[in-house]
Amino acid sequence: MKTLVWVEHEGGELKDATLAAVTAASKLGEVHLLVAGQDVGGVAEQAAKIAGVGKVHVADDAAYAHGLAENVAPLIAKLMDDHDAFLAPATTTGKNIAPRVAAKLDVMQISDILSVESEDTFTRPIYAGNAIATVKSSDAKKVITVRGTAFDNAASEGGSATVEAVSGPADAGLSSFVGAEIAESERPELTSARIIVSGGRAFGSSDQFHALLDPLADKLGAGVGASRAAVDAGYAPNDYQVGQTGKIVAPELYIAIGISGAIQHLAGMKDSKTIVAINKDEDAPIFQVADLGLVGDLFKIVPELTGKL
Ligand code: FAD
Repeated sequence: MKTLVWVEHEGGELKDATLAAVTAASKLGEVHLLVAGQDVGGVAEQAAKIAGVGKVHVADDAAYAHGLAENVAPLIAKLMDDHDAFLAPATTTGKNIAPRVAAKLDVMQISDILSVESEDTFTRPIYAGNAIATVKSSDAKKVITVRGTAFDNAASEGGSATVEAVSGPADAGLSSFVGAEIAESERPELTSARIIVSGGRAFGSSDQFHALLDPLADKLGAGVGASRAAVDAGYAPNDYQVGQTGKIVAPELYIAIGISGAIQHLAGMKDSKTIVAINKDEDAPIFQVADLGLVGDLFKIVPELTGKL
């Protein structure tokens, strides 16, 4: 079986989410990659070094700059003439591209896989992760998105894939890149952070959220996350949100502070290796998934904890 993995990259750097998708693809068969973008020679070089990759297809064209799904999907659909499965990381951009590819190939997408059982059988979460479905696809070509936290990253060094230039349909003219407003942060990105401290509605204001959580995160070298209630209340920006409709994370340590543990929040963090919860309500559902729990007032506990670190 020949697989094609879409390489996610930004600012000339290959993103880690790609490496987990490569691991998933390697369980299906031969792994080819697609690097699409403008001036992506450097990314193609990095991609060729990923262990286990046979070939890197490079589509270097202004039409593919900024990963515009409307332009990239037809290119992938064309390359799928020679491949049996397409895989993309289940990131915002991957989830924008893959369904378009599936539609063009007239196949069902298999979303957010957790494991590869065989060439046509996969597991994936349903009901916000409360049940795991085993799905079997009878489509001739598979289109798959991969949950990054469920697969180890392929080694980013050690491979020596061949690099081949490819071209595809021109600009579809359906969308154009206007601009990007990217929040600058010194902190690790949530999906790759080893430690995450996350805050909920209990913080009461944006000022208190940052005044208490930022120093704790700085001491731990952690990323900062938030519940949807905290995001909706404006305490934290959108990209902090962890959960079913936010980011799926699985760090070594997740510290949930003033978060009740609603099922939609748990869907995004319950695979974390160690979960610590701080909540004043000893019956809060978060304690059911926590390895360590502290019952008490966060406004007292968090400064104390930060001071002791
Ligand atoms: P609350 O549920 O209000 O909990 C606050 C907690 O803080 C309580 O447990 C309370 O005991 C504790 N507390 C209060 N004061 C203190 C104090 N001084 N010290 C210590 N503890 C204190 N939610 C997400 O997080 N992520 C998602 O992606 C998401 N997606 C959703 C998708 C859908 C379709 C729906 C319907 C909901 C979604 N939600 C999501 C919302 C979710 O259901 C909850 O409403 C939300 O997670 C609650 O956030 P919270 O725990 O911060 O707030």
